[in-house]
Amino acid sequence: MSQKRDPGSEPVAESEPHRIEIPHSITVKQLSDIMEVNPIEVIKQLMRGGVMANINQTIDFDTASIIASDFGFEAGLLAKETRGGYQRFGEEDTSLQRPRPSVVTIMGHVDHGKTSLLDAIRQTNVIATEAGSITQHIGAYQVEVNGQRITFLDTPGHEAFTAMRARGAQVTDIAVIVIAADDGMMPQTIEAIDHARAADVPILVAINKIDKPEANPERVKRQLAEKGILIEEWGGDTICVSISAKKRQGIEELLENLLTLAEVMELKANPRRRAIGAIIEAKLDKTKGPLATALIQAGTLKIGDSILAGDTWGRVKAMFNERAKHLRKAEPATPVEIMGLNGVPQVGDTIMAVASDREARSLVQKHHEEKQRGAIIPQRALTLDELFTQIQAGQIRELNIILKTDVQGTIEPIKGSLERLGTEKLRVKVIHSTSGTITESDVMLAIASKGIIIGFNTTTEPGAKRLAEAEGVDIRYYSVIYNLIDDIDMALKGMLQPTYTTVVEGHGEVRAIFSISKKGKAAGVYVTDGKLTRGAQARIMRDGDSVFESTISSLKRFTEDVTEVLTGFECGVGIEGYKDLQIGDIIEAYRKHRG
Ligand code: GDP
Repeated sequence: MSQKRDPGSEPVAESEPHRIEIPHSITVKQLSDIMEVNPIEVIKQLMRGGVMANINQTIDFDTASIIASDFGFEAGLLAKETRGGYQRFGEEDTSLQRPRPSVVTIMGHVDHGKTSLLDAIRQTNVIATEAGSITQHIGAYQVEVNGQRITFLDTPGHEAFTAMRARGAQVTDIAVIVIAADDGMMPQTIEAIDHARAADVPILVAINKIDKPEANPERVKRQLAEKGILIEEWGGDTICVSISAKKRQGIEELLENLLTLAEVMELKANPRRRAIGAIIEAKLDKTKGPLATALIQAGTLKIGDSILAGDTWGRVKAMFNERAKHLRKAEPATPVEIMGLNGVPQVGDTIMAVASDREARSLVQKHHEEKQRGAIIPQRALTLDELFTQIQAGQIRELNIILKTDVQGTIEPIKGSLERLGTEKLRVKVIHSTSGTITESDVMLAIASKGIIIGFNTTTEPGAKRLAEAEGVDIRYYSVIYNLIDDIDMALKGMLQPTYTTVVEGHGEVRAIFSISKKGKAAGVYVTDGKLTRGAQARIMRDGDSVFESTISSLKRFTEDVTEVLTGFECGVGIEGYKDLQIGDIIEAYRKHRG
């Protein structure tokens, strides 16, 4: 459909509306491009419907489909949602797979010794032939233990781990949870454990700082048991090693145990296919140009291979390991710094080798165009409103919940009640629960696990709120347990009332009051921002408090009735059912939207 359309001019002639597919959310620009209409027309049409949006603003599917139908299109929901756009792994012939090293992330509470442990491992276990060379930070390193390699990601902490997962890249096989023996389990220890569990990554516990006189490893073991982690010594199956990162004690034992765990996991990959991996670090070097560290997950990357990563492409000119040694090839689980991409990819992007430079370039271009069109949209978390349709469609079997409360005491009763709501079709799983405000790390976990967040008598940190809004993560707030449980129950049964968000359209300040015959008084109002429209909902604010809520019943410019008045203009305003407007009152006009 190449003809430009204007809904205002004449009705659309075709009897069959043209069908377009649009994602869950789309920007005004993308929608205009798909319909091939001027974005200004789309913005105008949105305004007629009471939605003020600029060209880059995102609108939801419901709104977009109404606009689309105004322009003569029938909108369908784009069924397939992919994050990266590139397919990561095809069917793999298991007979071609070979054992590969494990990839380990170190997590734990701040100051419990994560960095010290990474340093200790790096220094005690240099790959024999490279001893003495100076290490550089490239995001990961490998060590050799009893002739076998282990890869450590050099950015410790569950935040980095979950951020990678949220971007669709899970590279870690094993999580080492470091707990200081003097301090014991702390909030971030629990968070780290929950994040690892949510990703189904096995845990190995390292009780650190045992050199300290106040060290109390037994207490840590008890605390672990209380958290449901039973160590081998106590009859469970979690490996637990006591170490001192500072005194370099227990490091060998820790590494040997990691090898044992890796062996049990039977980690394998096919080294003889085209390489595929994940970007774990990337930067622009003044002399070398873009440098990206990739963790190869399958296949072998070689010098001269044509590659692409996210929005970038190129050819492998040189590869280095963490000891700045030139590598000719990189096999599965090997981290390598790559020179040769034409830009800096993002952490979490998929990197893959392709047949030729031409293919790399055209795939990246195609991907870029699809992104522009809105055909590839970020995989977003599920909102509670959408839950039921997805359950019905059999698309989800588990509802992951992150629960944050004001006090520790309310966690267990809420968690218990929530988990009891589960049915055969759908399990309700509280993957993380602590007291405190909702943080960015909680939002990341919700994205990575496609979960929702419930705040009970708590609030959200500003950064976390922004992230949640941008990524479409549903955060629900409650202050009564019954309401919380009831809402989730209703959502599971498909009976949840839709929620509405309020969009403020503008403000006006009352500058004069005049009587108009018997009808009473009207207010002379100056529009300070946005616009006032007839029929909009209005809140009368006096000294910062809302004193009345109703609708704008009349709107006049001089003596003429008008439908809207924009910023910088004066108008006469009547409020339905309210006669006590005073000079200095602020009229806030708003509309409610479903969402
Ligand atoms: P991170 O925040 O978890 O990365 O912790 P760091 O590795 O930075 O360590 C925090 C502090 O604990 C530093 O002052 C370290 O020197 C100290 N530390 C780390 N490991 C040990 C240990 O095994 N014994 C003792 N006594 N101190 C340690």
